[in-house]
Amino acid sequence: MKVLKFGGSSVASPENISKIKNILSSYNDKIILVVSAFGGVTDQLLKAGSLAAGQDDSYKDTFQEIETRHLDTIKKLIPITNQSKVLSKVKSELNVLETLLEGAFFIGEITPKLSDKIVSFGELLSSYIISEFFISQGLDCSYKDSRELIKTHKIGGKNTVDFKQTNSNCSSYFKPAKAKIIVCPGFIASSANGDITTLGRGGSDYTAAIYAAAVDADILEIWTDVSGMYTANPKMVKQAKAIPHISYEEAMELSHFGAKVLYPPTIQPVLAKGISINIKNTFQPEEPGTLITKSKNEKGKTVRGISHIGNMALLSLEGPGMVGIPGISKRFFEVLSQADISVVLITQASSEHSICVGISADDVEKSVEVVNEAFAYEMERGRIKPVHPEENLAIVALVGDNMKSHQGLSGKMFSTLGKNNVNIRVIAQGASERNISCVINEKDVKKALNALHEEFFEENIKQLNLFVMGVGNVGAKFLNQIKLQDKYLKKNLKLKLRVIGISNSRNMYFDEKGIDLNSWSDQLATGEKADKASFIKKVNEMNYRNSIFVDNTASHEIAETYSSFLSNSISVVTCNKIACSSEYGNYAHLKSLARTYNAPFLFETNVGAGLPIIDTLKNLIASGDKILKIQAVLSGSLNFVFNNFNDTTTFHDIVKKAQEEGYTEPDPKIDLSGIDVMRKILILARESGHILEIEDIKNKPFLPKESLETTNNEDFFKSLTKYEDDFQKMFGDAKKKNSKLKYVAKFENGEASVGLEQIPKGHDFYNLEESDNIVLFYTERYPNLPMIIKGAGAGADVTASGIFADIIRIGNF
Ligand code: ADP
Ligand code: ASP
Ligand code: MG
Repeated sequence: MKVLKFGGSSVASPENISKIKNILSSYNDKIILVVSAFGGVTDQLLKAGSLAAGQDDSYKDTFQEIETRHLDTIKKLIPITNQSKVLSKVKSELNVLETLLEGAFFIGEITPKLSDKIVSFGELLSSYIISEFFISQGLDCSYKDSRELIKTHKIGGKNTVDFKQTNSNCSSYFKPAKAKIIVCPGFIASSANGDITTLGRGGSDYTAAIYAAAVDADILEIWTDVSGMYTANPKMVKQAKAIPHISYEEAMELSHFGAKVLYPPTIQPVLAKGISINIKNTFQPEEPGTLITKSKNEKGKTVRGISHIGNMALLSLEGPGMVGIPGISKRFFEVLSQADISVVLITQASSEHSICVGISADDVEKSVEVVNEAFAYEMERGRIKPVHPEENLAIVALVGDNMKSHQGLSGKMFSTLGKNNVNIRVIAQGASERNISCVINEKDVKKALNALHEEFFEENIKQLNLFVMGVGNVGAKFLNQIKLQDKYLKKNLKLKLRVIGISNSRNMYFDEKGIDLNSWSDQLATGEKADKASFIKKVNEMNYRNSIFVDNTASHEIAETYSSFLSNSISVVTCNKIACSSEYGNYAHLKSLARTYNAPFLFETNVGAGLPIIDTLKNLIASGDKILKIQAVLSGSLNFVFNNFNDTTTFHDIVKKAQEEGYTEPDPKIDLSGIDVMRKILILARESGHILEIEDIKNKPFLPKESLETTNNEDFFKSLTKYEDDFQKMFGDAKKKNSKLKYVAKFENGEASVGLEQIPKGHDFYNLEESDNIVLFYTERYPNLPMIIKGAGAGADVTASGIFADIIRIGNF
């Protein structure tokens, strides 16, 4: 004999119920088939009951929905010839339900007994309809009401299964029963005096386990909407995988800590008989699912699964009067237990100064009341403080039989959470050492589960979640590089870059599954209106682990947002120079936020685009070297201009060309006035450890005053034409001396300067092609022959690859 249980979603629609019929066709054994209420009906019944009890007559609408749902299902499933009997039976049951709800409405109250009675209709109706459907399809099927088999009695005020009576009822009924399939409602039972009782939310699993144990079934199959017990809740962790084989103890621990796929009490009855449980997917019956057996997992993975319980609160009992006084914790737990409050987690400080328990947030009010009452005497005398609950918490637990023989797992767990800025309130380790759990803020649950899952299950593929602001020239190239490198990164660097949000100045678009980089621009066009504040809000709310904000703009406004990202442990990668060249205080603040919140702030492309200038500088300093002098040509744009400008061209045309080819900032005056180079040498000076402001940098401009004072691009270009003679003279003077014009930045003895210089043949700067940059670092280790970094220092492609390199640095962080 086999026991199969189909849960709420497996029976949620006529189509799903037909799937069950197909599944049954491959069985030759005798089957006890336990079903839940149609998905969502239990919640609706509870809602109708509480509306009615609150004298809110909208309970009638809810009732109506329940009625329509059942009648429609019958009409769709059962052939017309058999319909009227089933319709009239269900109708008459629904009339009883309606009367009960009316009763609750008029009295304005609902007792636990009445609530059980109301909620029992879910399983009563679903099981009856399903059995009639099978019969109408010619299956050898009969129906048995579980209330006649499963008996409960009160233990400590709680309805508990009376196994002696129940087992005897089950074996005397099922063993001689003739039908091949016996359909039974899950979840419901009855007391000795015939009152309807229930087995708790999710209790149909338990019904099936009780039957399986009572009849010594070959197997208990739990059919649901996922392919087994997963390494974490698949609704929260996309990468979670079904666990092929797990021990009873591990499964029990996972389900106790929130793996809803199995109702925790389910394991006990089958464990005692050594009956295996197979969790299967009704919608993918070919999947093997999870097999739960008694064999321990001794060689397998240490951590088998991660689970969590949301909606938790902490209740701490503390005070000087607790030290050394026996019996306080006993009284504390007794009070909670008498009030029917279940304690999920316990920690006690070794000083005995406080005991802290994790309870469901729904029990907070009651628990505060009973505990304060029970310890009123001590509280009045200041020996114990009145309890103050902390809410909006969740428990996250790592589970595995094999964890006890491995050191360092908790260290790994806590450092993973720490790195992701998940604050840990309380830590508890189960006495069985099969479980390490901690209490965190509810808002961090998804991030914590995903970060832990990545650490313990994902073969070290680290996922970086990117939010990209600015998808123009550089941004578009950057997105394309991510797309092209996807496979390489996964295979060689064990990194997966997932772009979750993108924005330009018009629109913004988010996709939590990762934006398809083949069509990001189409998707962006369909996105909502761009708004800086809501972009930041969204990134912070999503609260993903390894989040990186990428700024590809040149905007002041965007540069001002970095601190709000960093202080939420979101890394920032930027090619925008504004933040790092703003007041020193702001630059230093951002760097300190990055350290405090463990979120890298990287801006390699601020100097020399993709050239590894800042990184090299950092490495020199980190290894103990000292910067003595920096000489550099740092403007790809100015280089382009002066490499192309000569007596056969005009200065105006060359600047225009540089602008068109993306070698200048959108406002070319920023390059030509030298501001851009000033910012760069400022950043290098600061990165070398000097406190400097932009005003401290000497700048001898080569542009005429009139050009510098223009306020728009059109006037600026006009002024260039007007002063063409002056530009030609600059060129001619240099040419006479066999020199080339280069815009040079210098830093020495704490002082920085920028300006146009005539560079003679043979100088390191003389042969710079196109938009090349060059930096000479004179340091204590390179005092005479400098360390030289040279190469293309402008252009969208190299800038994008510099941003890319920063992202990879974070990935390896
Ligand atoms: P049923 O209605 O079939 O009883 P449940 O909703 O009670 O189904 O349980 C299945 C759900 O359990 C899944 O859809 C999933 O969201 C949730 N779940 C939570 N943790 C886990 C886990 N570790 N493995 C599988 N499912 C899980
Ligand atoms: N229908 C009940 C519930 O929703 C029992 C079950 O589905 O297991 O809790
Ligand atoms: Mg369930």
